[in-house]
Amino acid sequence: MMRIALLGATGSIGASTLDVVQRHAERFRISALSAHRNVDALVALCRQWRPEIAVIADPALEGELAAGLRSAGLDTRATAGAQGLIEAAEGSHADCVVAAIVGSAGLESTLAAARAGKRLLLANKESVVMAGSLLRAALDQGGGLLLPLDSEHNAVFQCLPRERRDLADCGVRRILLTASGGPFRGRSRSELAKVTPDMACAHPNWRMGRKISVDSATLMNKGLEVIEAHFLFDAAAAAIDVVVHPQSIVHSMVEYEDGSVLAQLGNPDMRTAIAYALAWPQRIDAGVAALDLVRIARLGFEGVDRETFRCLDLAYQALASGGTAPTTLNAANEEAVAAFLEDRLPFLAIEAVIETCLERLPSASVTDLPGLLDSDLTARREAQRIIASLAE
Ligand code: NDP
Repeated sequence: MMRIALLGATGSIGASTLDVVQRHAERFRISALSAHRNVDALVALCRQWRPEIAVIADPALEGELAAGLRSAGLDTRATAGAQGLIEAAEGSHADCVVAAIVGSAGLESTLAAARAGKRLLLANKESVVMAGSLLRAALDQGGGLLLPLDSEHNAVFQCLPRERRDLADCGVRRILLTASGGPFRGRSRSELAKVTPDMACAHPNWRMGRKISVDSATLMNKGLEVIEAHFLFDAAAAAIDVVVHPQSIVHSMVEYEDGSVLAQLGNPDMRTAIAYALAWPQRIDAGVAALDLVRIARLGFEGVDRETFRCLDLAYQALASGGTAPTTLNAANEEAVAAFLEDRLPFLAIEAVIETCLERLPSASVTDLPGLLDSDLTARREAQRIIASLAE
């Protein structure tokens, strides 16, 4: 029986994870659940899953959570804040941690799970982008296993040899990340100037949380994934390419020296990646329909329109600069996306905020967590200043 701490349980990845878990009650048990502010949803999940620990990330809501659990007659222990998340990630109640918090808020619990040697199922790509080297060091220290949940990295993982060490030793030439192109594929810059948050969140193939949906619309999601692939697979930026594949059936590919390209295919449903990572090295039912290639009929591929969607190049630039540049990129993106979602910033200004932030904050070599958190904060403040100036 694998005991699972699910951090970000009330979100889209959280729901997909619980769907897979409930299909395999004999294999998995939920031992911890977390949410940010959604107390009612968290208590409802606790009623169903009866975990040992429930964490509400907003410390002001700890009393409300405790009262909710009490009135539901549960003996689940209520905890809160960053410390509660860390405890849920590293405690002995869990063998496996699903890191499904959105944004930099997931960083410290992800690092804690890695240091504690848990089986780490990682959806929270922002923590890799912010602190990829620290995460690698934490994994080395803990000796646990990281299994990527991002469908692209999960696909790459599946296409690499199991006894993998160095990519070059395995004969890998390139990692090819596929991108759907998002809801605005084919649109012009003048059309993009007018798009609304609801339009940006209406992804053609995937149902996801609002932040990653906007990232998909700007193509920053692919930029974050390039940086994620660099850290997860120890791949040089030059060996990571992006190809647009509008159907989202090929989830990514690995090209080998002999010209072979291995791809992982499946319906666009996160439960496949989650089931793969939960059960690895075995395979289990994910509840996902069989892929009907005859019905799909055609798989298309095209290059990225980098003139219209500039965020991907900004991510490559940040990766090339190294040091704190990816942290700055991530922080500026989170602030700009939040402002866009609150109607405080037009869609096209998201990339402008990130670009200006990267120009104004030179990359520094920082190797410890306090230093990175400081860089994150500095970048957020700068981004907020830029957003305010754009609103004037
Ligand atoms: P959602 O917005 O649907 O869910 C986010 C979860 O994180 C919720 O449980 C939310 O709690 C919690 N949360 C939000 N803010 C905080 C905070 N400050 N502190 C602690 N917890 C917080 O996001 P997704 O499930 O879409 O995405 C989660 C992660 O997975 C992201 O990093 C995303 O990039 C990645 N990912 C998602 C995919 C998808 O298909 N959705 C695909 C690949 C990767 P509450 O409900 O209380 O707000």
